[in-house]
Amino acid sequence: MASTESKTVHSAALTYFSMISLLTLCPPFVILLWYTMVHADGSIIQTFDYLRQHGLQGFVDIWPRPTVMAWKIIACYAAFEAALQLLLPGKRVEGPISPAGNRPVYKANGMAAYTVTLVTYLSLWWVVLSGSFPLGCLFGIFNPTIVYDHLGEIFSALIFGSLIFCVFLYIKGHLAPSSSDSGSCGNMIIDFYWGMELYPRIGKNFDIKVFTNCRFGMMSWAVLAVTYCIKQYEQNGRVADSMLVNTILMLVYVTKFFWWEAGYWNTMDIAHDRAGFYICWGCLVWVPSIYTSPGMYLVNHPVHLGTQLALFILVAGLLCIYINYDCDRQRQEFRRTNGKCLVWGKAPSKIVASYQTTSGETKTSLLLTSGWWGLSRHFHYVPEISAAFFWTVPALFNHFLPYFYVVFLTVLLLDRAKRDDDRCRSKYGKYWKLYCDKVRYRVVPGIY
Ligand code: NDP
Repeated sequence: MASTESKTVHSAALTYFSMISLLTLCPPFVILLWYTMVHADGSIIQTFDYLRQHGLQGFVDIWPRPTVMAWKIIACYAAFEAALQLLLPGKRVEGPISPAGNRPVYKANGMAAYTVTLVTYLSLWWVVLSGSFPLGCLFGIFNPTIVYDHLGEIFSALIFGSLIFCVFLYIKGHLAPSSSDSGSCGNMIIDFYWGMELYPRIGKNFDIKVFTNCRFGMMSWAVLAVTYCIKQYEQNGRVADSMLVNTILMLVYVTKFFWWEAGYWNTMDIAHDRAGFYICWGCLVWVPSIYTSPGMYLVNHPVHLGTQLALFILVAGLLCIYINYDCDRQRQEFRRTNGKCLVWGKAPSKIVASYQTTSGETKTSLLLTSGWWGLSRHFHYVPEISAAFFWTVPALFNHFLPYFYVVFLTVLLLDRAKRDDDRCRSKYGKYWKLYCDKVRYRVVPGIY
């Protein structure tokens, strides 16, 4: 029998290092990235020269102050998404058994919320385009390009607002935890950083992590991708094929996410990572700013690819997104049917692994060792990173900055593969070793 599943995170020293870096480097980085994309032609050298000439004061000068308009946009968007999460109908879905033996219940209305959000957003634009301003005033409408025009202020407001939100999570974790999947590790900083509650809720039904990760973070990715496209259209009177490829691939990726949102509730982010600064600040700030950055760059760089190249990149990107989806689907179908399914046309090969929950109960899980999961233990990260490359490459190679997301994602997923391996080793013990003996590579078959 494997040892009791514990909350495996990095060591205290690494947590302090990671937290200090995140707190001190990430907020300025978000602002510098936005400034470089929007005001410095996407050129790191240009921004660097500016900072060399103007020093710290120059940096303070480019940091936009959060304006009333920025707070209004964020508040309306957050309230709209929260209302959709609460009110739209959806199937009742049970999440995986938690380390404390609970089974959280969700309402699967992500696809409906995604559709309503995009249709509403595009309708707002249509109202502006068609000149129906009385109707526009009725809705209190703005042109979506306003979001792009106030992007710096919005990111700035998100940076500070999300920090305050994480303090709220910390206090709630101490005073009013929603379930027994919560608790302090005795260190205030680690509690704040990695989080205290696994499934924090407001009331019985409003799941905070579904809101931060899915309905705010992932949704903003789609909304901003559309915004960048609209901005380029309004600026140039047309949308370049590079922007089209980028937007289509990002939208297909986010659509896939919402299509499979209930599956996401079984992944590390939701089932293992607690609601703290690391995951919540990341979803509220880093996803809207960094994940969308290739599109942000393309607004002012309407690269013309030509039909053939554009189609080639589009098809390659779609294939990667499909493979990534199929990896997740294969694992979840395998678990859902208790191994009674076909994997690549054959009965799956598997390991029956037992473990103990924190309450001492013995449970078993099945580990799939064929199909995508027989190629390497985290093969799904390969198409994930490749897809990100394909929606960035329409920017061609004039500047490095659009590729920052691909580089960041590679580091994030290699670290995540290690974190997940460590966690599974401590959860499944000898069974995980058996899996590692059978499937030797961690991410890239034959290499790593
Ligand atoms: P998953 O949660 O989907 O998979 C890891 C978990 O699956 C393990 O913790 C383990 O959980 C279980 N597991 C591991 N091996 C097996 C196996 N052989 N058979 C059955 N179950 C197994 O991983 P992620 O959350 O990392 O990824 C989910 C999706 O999200 C992927 O598509 C990924 O690419 C994407 N992603 C995207 C990111 C981005 O920033 N763009 C970041 C992270 C992920 P258990 O305890 O249940 O056994």
